[in-house]
Amino acid sequence: KAKQQGRNHFQWYTSDLNERVCEHARLRNELQKAIETQSLKLHYQPQIEARTGRVAGVEALLRWEHPEKGYISPAVFVPVAEDSGQIIPLSLWVLDTACAQLRQLGEQGITGISMAVNISPMHFQRGHFVQFIQTVLEKHGLCGEQLELEITESLLLHNAEQAIDTLHRLKALGVRIALDDFGTGFSSLSYLKRLPIDKIKIDRSFIQELSTDCHDAAIIQGIISMAQHLSLTVVAEGVETESQVAFLKGCRCNVLQGYYFAKPMKYEALEIFLREQKETDFL
Ligand code: C2E
Ligand code: MG
Ligand code: MG
Ligand code: MG
Repeated sequence: KAKQQGRNHFQWYTSDLNERVCEHARLRNELQKAIETQSLKLHYQPQIEARTGRVAGVEALLRWEHPEKGYISPAVFVPVAEDSGQIIPLSLWVLDTACAQLRQLGEQGITGISMAVNISPMHFQRGHFVQFIQTVLEKHGLCGEQLELEITESLLLHNAEQAIDTLHRLKALGVRIALDDFGTGFSSLSYLKRLPIDKIKIDRSFIQELSTDCHDAAIIQGIISMAQHLSLTVVAEGVETESQVAFLKGCRCNVLQGYYFAKPMKYEALEIFLREQKETDFL
């Protein structure tokens, strides 16, 4: 349309913007329906202890199978949900479901596994967050040590003092805290010593270019040695190849997660995976 009206860049721009605003509104409505009809799912990706090859935990990841559009990535719809406030009911559902399924694993005799859940800053900063965590743990008969919350540095941008206080109260419940996407933020190093966290997850982007970018290798080694001095556990995300595994093991990275070991999978597949992994060793 705009093309026929000549080289009018403004037209181009507004029609493009309009389209994006519409698409955003459409997604929000469809997401609402998906929440109401419970058509969102959680998938779980194993996290492997590098030293032993044992599955130490799993990360819960949201999945949305749209009736017409097919699979929509959480990287697309989580920001939409954050804009609209839908992230709160969504996040409550994620926590409840992930804890219910961890209890179910326990009932199947699969124990010693922790559940990691991604927490949006908006949810984390709300009042009653810690209280909700306590309630959900009690509801499913779990202890705090079985739950791990994955947060990002962006949490600290607005009210760092309050965020740190919340982290301390979570720690008092025994809940573990992991700093996700580590290395991609702005203030990683200055916050590290102030934050009561247990783990850092080195962002996938550093792992991905490991074999082609010697700087990434140096950065990873640096992060791991720093983390060890701070007594933090290090997780590498997005591990896809054998040579990445070898390198990370050589650096004494603690936990490995990525397609090399397993893609995120639905609960039923996870149960089978965890049962079988007792006899297999990955490393
Ligand atoms: P994240 O927490 O950093 O999750 C890791 C992402 O890397 C996941 O993408 C996972 O499927 C993907 N991944 C894992 N191993 C590999 C690998 O070897 N290669 C590649 N290429 N990718 C790998 P996913 O599931 O699309 O999630 C994207 C982001 O959406 C997550 O990043 C997280 O920030 C957000 N997210 C997902 N589920 C939730 C949720 O329940 N709540 C909130 N607030 N955010 C969520
Ligand atoms: Mg995560
Ligand atoms: Mg990440
Ligand atoms: Mg992320």
